[in-house]
Amino acid sequence: MEHPPRPLAIEDCLNECSWDVTGDRLGGDPLFACAACGSEWVRSEDWTPIDWLGEVPETVVAERARPE
Ligand SMILES: [Zn+2]
Repeated sequence: MEHPPRPLAIEDCLNECSWDVTGDRLGGDPLFACAACGSEWVRSEDWTPIDWLGEVPETVVAERARPE
């Protein structure tokens, strides 16, 4: 899997975290961002975002499940 062309913003996620797609793409993959802390995520990352409920957001689950 290709590495993103630039480092992602990684902040400490708070208990208000809310992830969604940004509409931008990074390295060909949809770029996700946390509205609360500004962290960013793409599917090539080793970690998986969780929201303020402690659950993986549906949009992230769908992105992980998307065929290459
Ligand atoms: Zn966050």
